[in-house]
Amino acid sequence: RTVYLNGDYLPEDEAKVSIFDRGFVMADAIYEVTSVLGGKLIDFGGHMARLKRSMDALDMQNPLSDDEFLTAHRELVTRNGIEDGLIYLQVTRGNPGDRDFAYPPADTAPTVVMFTQSKPGLADNPAAKQGIRVISTEDLRWGRRDIKTVQLLYPSMAKMEAKAKGADDAWLVEDGRVTEGTSNNAYIVKGGTIITRELSHDILHGITRAAVLRFAKEAQMKVEERAFTIDEAKDADEAFVTSASAFVMPVVEIDGVSVGQGTPGPAATRLREIYLDESRKAAV
Ligand code: PMP
Repeated sequence: RTVYLNGDYLPEDEAKVSIFDRGFVMADAIYEVTSVLGGKLIDFGGHMARLKRSMDALDMQNPLSDDEFLTAHRELVTRNGIEDGLIYLQVTRGNPGDRDFAYPPADTAPTVVMFTQSKPGLADNPAAKQGIRVISTEDLRWGRRDIKTVQLLYPSMAKMEAKAKGADDAWLVEDGRVTEGTSNNAYIVKGGTIITRELSHDILHGITRAAVLRFAKEAQMKVEERAFTIDEAKDADEAFVTSASAFVMPVVEIDGVSVGQGTPGPAATRLREIYLDESRKAAV
């Protein structure tokens, strides 16, 4: 596989980053994941906009223009023959030469890494037909979840807890209410209304979330942006999650309790179709 490192395209085993890199020792790094369908990038503009938000929040300098990022993404898609898959992009604050809590001088070169993951048939994931099972667990992450940093240890722990309990994923709960999934935004549907937590520092501002809510409104579906409890979710007609890699994924069980009929619901199924159709049309 060919990967991108600081302007170069290299075989993956030749791409080396310093052990002093702040991404490595401090998790001082942000990332984006863009999906590829039919060789084209889904929601690329949204991912670039959020990359900038994350960098601004951390006083990180943006090393490349959107056009340069686009070129590099396309180059990796071509070089690796990606039809369906994901492109991972990470920017770290670079290598200051020593370990120090203070940020290094602003002219320290950031480290920019991109790589592809091939996922043939990504949009036909059989899990979308069955729906996934989630457990609930406490949200113990830091308070700036709107910044897409690589501090992913707690989400990993929550995911492992879900697996140990025979489920697919975890919904994180804070002050009695669901924030989001380990790597996705969480929704319920009750009486025809789609309910998902409002944007704040408490959750990642999902690029898929923004698109799906826009499509829902265009399709005259009712949308309410507010927090909900796990009890409310168990009692909902439907539940689902969204992310760049899972698109719209129905949730059919929460803490062992079936949601609705225990099968993917009509709203989630329809939104998945609309999202895939529309975002393929707008892909670049
Ligand atoms: N919340 C969290 C915590 C995530 O990690 C992700 C995926 N990176 C999302 C939500 C979904 O965001 P997006 O739709 O932009 O992939």
